[in-house]
Formats: sequence, structure tokens, C-alpha cells
Amino acid sequence: MLPCLASGAPDSDAQFTREAKFYEKLGYKKIKCKLCPRECVIDDRERGYCGARENRGGIYYTLVHSRVVTAHVDPIEKKPFFHFCPGGMAFSVATAGCNVNCKMCQNWDISQVRPEQAPSNYLPPKRLAEMARESNCAAIAYTYSEPVIFYEYVVDAAEAGRAAGIKSAVVTGGFIQQDPLKELCRRVDAIKVDLKAFSEKFYKEVVNGEMKPVLDGLVTMRKLGMWTEIVYLVIPTLNDSDAEFKALARWVKSELGPDVPVHFSRFHPEYLLKNLPPTPLNTLERAKAACDAEGLHYVYLGNVPGHPAENTYCPKCKRAVVERTGFMVHGMHLENSKCKYCRQAIPGVWKT
Ligand code: SF4
Repeated sequence: MLPCLASGAPDSDAQFTREAKFYEKLGYKKIKCKLCPRECVIDDRERGYCGARENRGGIYYTLVHSRVVTAHVDPIEKKPFFHFCPGGMAFSVATAGCNVNCKMCQNWDISQVRPEQAPSNYLPPKRLAEMARESNCAAIAYTYSEPVIFYEYVVDAAEAGRAAGIKSAVVTGGFIQQDPLKELCRRVDAIKVDLKAFSEKFYKEVVNGEMKPVLDGLVTMRKLGMWTEIVYLVIPTLNDSDAEFKALARWVKSELGPDVPVHFSRFHPEYLLKNLPPTPLNTLERAKAACDAEGLHYVYLGNVPGHPAENTYCPKCKRAVVERTGFMVHGMHLENSKCKYCRQAIPGVWKT
């Protein structure tokens, strides 16, 4: 739903076009994009893999600045963020395009198209921030497709949001180079990474991407103090082995620490994986058990409303400190970011 936006005709190209931030000029008007690890080398009048960036005479441009294809007001828990402004709402926006092609994509109708193929509206950063504030949102969420490919819009909107007292939260596959990631970490308040699996094979065959840059990015986010949560969509037969869950848990514990929330989410058949069944509950519980055994403190199950693993438990006294059902928060037992029962600090961004 896109209420009350200034309309942008699909052919009004100039309002959506800005010079890209991260690219290198090569000879003969070619450029190399340095935004994501794909590093597309692009001739004049050509576009990169994501379809959202174009070389015009040796200058590289984003075509999707302020070019919003969908906008909704959602609970922050739906992203999901469980330790970031709980109970708040997020003004959630996306543009067309993506830098990978996941066979399980739930938003393929906007992620796998070019900007001209999706009806869009013009929503400049300042207006976006105003709308978020008018809708009583705690944050703007950049989500649904892939915020990396609308990077310039994200950083400009985050700046406008900060000026208006609105936080910014990025929901991403994390397939981004280190320099743009470091700048992003200075501009936004939280990043949720969809870690698609814990194997390069899966990334190659199901995502058409690479896992290592995503893991490197997660380490950088933590080093820079960015509030980070991980979501892992558990897909039957493809990324659901005990060995993979254990390897993931060990890596998170050793490289990111036990306090990074990990959400295991139930798969529903979508897009190019309609042949697979929804994830059985006991598979999700196996994933959680592997992470619990490794000592991770905040392991959640998603898309299973009413399951006790939707709650946040204090790692010290084991009592529920944030109670949830689905995307609803119905009990907060924190005082000054600490468990009110035993005074254990619970990491997160708890205040809006
Ligand atoms: S952001 Fe787009 S153009 Fe740039 S390297 Fe990635 S896929 Fe290619």
C-alpha cells in the first residue's frame, strides 16, 4: 500500500537518477561497480546484474533513488528485529531489483524485475521521514527487495530520518563490499542479515551469490558496534542438516559472540521452490537446539505463532523478559535494558 505519495510517472527518469557512490572508471567509458562483490564491469549504456544501475557515458548511475515500488507500515518484529525498538512500527519501503536471485524469494515480483517493469512512486528522503513520523513509526525499514542495490537512497533517507528523530533499519542479504558497508554502518541503526544457509554450495546453487562476503560483513558490523540480528530460513533438504546448524552456531559464537540474535524461520513454498514442503516444526527445533547447545543466548523461531521460542529469555535467570505472540509484544520485563528479575543486561536497542 502506498498512501498519499507524490506520484512519479515511470518515464520521469531524472528524479530517480543519481550518480552511484561506489564505482571505478575504466578505459573506453567502461566502469567497474564496487558496491557488491559481484563487481560488474559495464560498458556505456549497459546495466549491472541488478538492473538498477546504468552506465551513461562513463558515469555510473543508480536508477532507483526515491523510486519506491512498495511501502507498508509493519511491526518491527515482522522484519524480524526482536532486540530493536520492540513493539514499535517500521515504515517499510523497497525499490525494484536485487543483486542475487534466490530460488525461494518471497518478493520475486519486485526483486527480479527492472525499475521500468514495476509501477513506482516518487518518495524523496525528507518526505519518507515525514511520513514515517506521521505514521508514529520508530524506524524506517529498507526491506522486501535488497537495500544494497538502492544504497544511495538508503543513506540519504537515513540522514533525513535522523534529522526527524526516526531510526533506520536495513533488512539485507548482506552481499555488499566492505567500504560501502562501513559507510552504511555510520548512517543506520540496525541491520538484519538474511543468512541463506551455512554453505558456499547453497549460495552458489540456490542464491547465485557467495557466502564469504556475507560472513565477512557480519564480522565488520559487530566490530563497528552495529546492532545486528541474523535470520536463517530453514528449507527442507537444502539447508537443514544438523551438521550445518552446528557449524553455523559455532561460527556465530566464535566470530560474533553469543549475544547476536539468530532467528530460524519456517519456509513456505515460493517462487522456484514450490516443489518443497513447509519446514516441519521439529526441524526448526533441531536448529534451535544446536544453537542453544553451543551457548548462543537469543535463538528464536519464526513463522510459528504461539511457540515459546518467540519470547526473549534472560540468559541468567531464564525468565521471559520480552513476551511475544507472532508480531505482537505483550509483555516487557526490562528495566534500563536489564532483566527486571535478576538485573542481567540484555543487549539491544530497547528504547524508541
Ligand atoms: S550492485 Fe548491481 S551493478 Fe553493482 S556489482 Fe552488484 S549487481 Fe553489479
